[in-house]
Amino acid sequence: MIIAIDGPAASGKGTLARMIARHFGFAYLDTGALYRAVARDTLAGGFGLDDTAAVVSIARSLDPATLDDDGLRCPGVGEAASRIAGIPEVRAALLAYQRHFAKTPPGAVLDGRDIGTVVCPDADAKIFVTATADVRARRRFLERQRQGEDATYEQVLDLIRNRDARDSERGSSPMKRADDADLLDTTEMGIQAAFDAAVGLIKRKISQ
Ligand code: C5P
Repeated sequence: MIIAIDGPAASGKGTLARMIARHFGFAYLDTGALYRAVARDTLAGGFGLDDTAAVVSIARSLDPATLDDDGLRCPGVGEAASRIAGIPEVRAALLAYQRHFAKTPPGAVLDGRDIGTVVCPDADAKIFVTATADVRARRRFLERQRQGEDATYEQVLDLIRNRDARDSERGSSPMKRADDADLLDTTEMGIQAAFDAAVGLIKRKISQ
């Protein structure tokens, strides 16, 4: 059983995907962490994000055991990840690992931007999670404030809008709702309501 959860930055898809995996007793993969780890290793190695040969080589030799790293969540790494994610050879290098993970028995939940469209087009259930840019920026801003960062709401909104544009306009596997994905708009929902709605959509899909 494969459940694909896609959506833009700060839509809540990661939290939802983790809760869904726990609910069904499935394995969970945050595929954004793969791109973030490639960005982290590129920066740590002193390479430029536009040094395609270096970035591709780092993606090809990425050790998934290094994904459990708090450093991956910092804003600079997210931005860098979205830049290197536009390189087709980087995406190709990360594909086999994601597809292999998706086959974990008895099931797997993967979240990202292209799970329902490219990584697992045959997933049993697909949800595209979204919310307005304003609401996503507000959530991210509050999260950053709690972490003691001093970015303004306007700066966070700007970053979200730029990230949306970069992720959805790139030529290689752009962020896009799959034709057969259910849309879950969490603009006016708390996390529990979003989780209940997601479980309802998944159950309906797999009973069809
Ligand atoms: O989801 P997260 O914010 O951690 O992802 C970081 C970046 O990695 C995204 O902005 C996107 O550019 C890239 N990504 C991707 N495909 C995925 C997951 C993430 O291109 N499946």
